[in-house]
Parts: sequence; structure tokens; C-alpha cells
Amino acid sequence: MTIFLETYRKAQTPEQTHFCPGCGHGNLLKFVDEAVSALGCASRTIWVSPVGCGGLTDSYLSVSHILSAHGRASAVGTAVKRLHSDSVVIVSQGDGDLASIGFLEALHAANRGECLTVFFVNNANFAMTGGQMAPTSLLGQISATTPEGRSLAEHGAPLKVCEIFEQLEGPAYIARVAIGSERQIADARRVIRRAVQNQLEGRGYSFVEILSPCPSNWHCTPAEARDRVAEVMTQTYPLGVFRDVDKSDIVSARARVEAYSPERSQAAFDALARPLDVCGEPAIRLLAPLSVCCAGFGGQGVLTLGRLIARVGLASALNATWIPSYGPEMRGGSANCFVRLQNGPISSPVVDCPDVLIAMNQPALERFAPKTAPGGLILYDSDAVFVPERLQISARCIGIPATSHASAAGAPKAANLILFWALWQNIDVHADREAIFSLLPEPFKVRDLMREY
Ligand code: SF4
Repeated sequence: MTIFLETYRKAQTPEQTHFCPGCGHGNLLKFVDEAVSALGCASRTIWVSPVGCGGLTDSYLSVSHILSAHGRASAVGTAVKRLHSDSVVIVSQGDGDLASIGFLEALHAANRGECLTVFFVNNANFAMTGGQMAPTSLLGQISATTPEGRSLAEHGAPLKVCEIFEQLEGPAYIARVAIGSERQIADARRVIRRAVQNQLEGRGYSFVEILSPCPSNWHCTPAEARDRVAEVMTQTYPLGVFRDVDKSDIVSARARVEAYSPERSQAAFDALARPLDVCGEPAIRLLAPLSVCCAGFGGQGVLTLGRLIARVGLASALNATWIPSYGPEMRGGSANCFVRLQNGPISSPVVDCPDVLIAMNQPALERFAPKTAPGGLILYDSDAVFVPERLQISARCIGIPATSHASAAGAPKAANLILFWALWQNIDVHADREAIFSLLPEPFKVRDLMREY
């Protein structure tokens, strides 16, 4: 246990946080830091972070830290707590992370009554990726993906997670607080401390939803954002303690369950390692290993583009790797990923000189084009990107008006799919068009457009 903690321990830093001014994430960190210090449990606290604006907490708190995959923090927290029952596991998740991508994991952790403390930061949008609508966005709220405002008929009502969890048997403590008025913030501080204390006392699963300002994506000042939390968000999401009971019986019953066994898990890992069965003709046959760099802004679907390429490879009985590269700077900043496809084993997922670059914005082209392999291929969205003469490029460049084609199909966000299809049209592989189409997601309009391309 001590070794585990020491392995993950991080030093406290005097640097400024990466949060935008007025962001509520900072309040959460401060209040948890105060709580674990006052309760004397910092040395055995393990913070499980989400992907999103809350993902870099290890830089600020001197507690142990694990960054989980997107939406999986409650599942990772469950594993940590079950393996190290004397640790204090704090799970923090945003609304995109918990209420959308990882809702099932969060729901089932609550339903099982895992002895965790889960903090749910609800700022009513996917903040890190540029302010898209989240399940918790308010009716009428304008976001990057709801320019006309969230509509009840089209998008459904805001998801009230506390009220949903209140229906479950497992949770011991459920509360909603707000980083709004001074009074609300003082209440939040007290409730957050109580939720940590519950775990120390073995009372069971504690869940605190924190209505939180996001001035950057709400396009307002920090003061206006706090007023909006205090006066507008609380209309949809009423504050209060929804449940406060002792569920220590669940916690002690679980302690008697057989401990984790690495040997038992080996069979599952072996099954996962089996090659995929491919029915019929594979979608593509590679003549040589292929490495692809997809790059652009966060929110353009760059990572999805890379995953699609990897998925087509896997469905064709090839080996595939996909590694994304982005961070909090992804709010309108750069995002890229690298894919490798190969007939045999892939020794490393790292791609220094890609065979193919797919560039969806100008900085991406200027950064990766000079690194693209001689004789390779550069596909770029010619609606947003041009190739400057000053760049030293030895690869073939093809501009595709992807944004305007996607817009013409009624799906302006699908420029990534246009470029995806252009890839298979322009590289030296055997590619079965229909088999690749069958692997694509909706919308069909875009698929139809690609058929014509
Ligand atoms: S984008 Fe919003 S949630 Fe993210 S750090 Fe900035 S204010 Fe906070």
C-alpha cells in the first residue's frame, strides 16, 4: 500500500493552475485539499481524475493521483477502492464525462454503493472540447452544437443526476451544491468535507453535484457566470441534500467478498489477445505498413477520424494502434492522433514521420507536413488550409474542400469523414468501398455524399 501511494505521489506546485479565471474546478480542489488535510487522510487519499478540464489535478494537490480514460473515473475508482480498501478514493468527473460518456459506469458504481466519494462538476457543457451541449445543458442554452439553443423536442430535458441516483438503493449520501453566491460556496465547502468524512467512516457511496461556472464557454465574465449559477442553474437543478443515510452494511458485506486474483484475470486477458475473426473479404489489404497523422483543432473530429482508420484496419485483420495527443489546451487548440496499421506485430505506436498526414487546420499542416515521409501523402481541408511555398515538403499534397462538401450534405461537422474517405481513394491499398462504408457511423447523408466523391 505504501509503495502504491509513493509511486503515484506528486509534489505540490507553486505554479498557477490551468483553469480559466472564475472556473469552479479551483474551488473543488481547494475544498477537497482542506478536507483531507483537516481530516488527516492526505497520505492515503487517491484522486481519480477524468479527461477534461479537471484532468490535471495531480499538478496541484499533494495526494496520489490517477488520470482515467474518458468517462471511466467511477470504474477506476471502484477498482482502486476494492484493491486498497484503506485508501480514501476521491473521484472527480465533469458533466460530459459522468453524465454522458461514462454515465453507465457512474450509475452502476452508485447502484453498487461503492465506498467512494464522487464529485460531479456540472457546468452544463463539454467545456474542454469547446463548449458543446452536454446532457446537463439548460433548455434554451446556446452551445457550440446548439446554436439555436437546447430544445426539449429535439434534445430532451436536462439530465438531473442527483434525482436519478436518488432512485437507487446503493448511495449513502447525495447532495447538490453550487459555486454561485457566497452562501452557496460556503455550503459547498461544508458538504464536500462531509462527503470525504463519510468515506473515512465507511458509510458508503457519497455523491456531490457541484453546479459550477464556466465563463470561457458561457462567454461572460467570472462574476456574471457565478450569478448565472446562483440564479439560473439552480432553477433547473435545486440545491440540497437528497439523501443522508448509513450504508456501512454494504461496505462491510463487500469486505468479505473474495479478494482480487491476478490468476483469475489471466483468462480474460488471453481472450482479449485473440485475433479478430474476419467474415468474408477484408475491407482493406495493406501492401506495406501504414502510419497516419490526423491533426487539427479540438472539436473537428480529429480523434474520431484516427479511430475510424484504426477500426477499419482491425476489421481487416490488421494490427492497429491509435494514440491521441491533446490536453486542456484543446479548448479550441490543437488535437492530433497517430495511427499505425500493419500486417504483422507493431513494435511501437509512436509515429515520427507519418506516411500520410490529414491536416484539418493551418497549424497542423505547418507542424506536420515537413515531417511527412518523402513520397508520402498530405490530405488537407482546402476550405481551411493552404500549402505555403516556404514549407519544405517532399510528399504529394491533395486539397479536398471537405468543409464545404460536408456543409452541402447538411452536416458541417463531418468534414473529418470526407477526409477519411479521401484517404482510401488516394493510397496504394486494396480497399473495398462498401465494406468500409458499412463500418461508418451515421449520418447517412454524409455516407451518400462520400459515395459520389
Ligand atoms: S473551459 Fe470552463 S470548465 Fe474548463 S477550465 Fe475554463 S472555465 Fe473551467
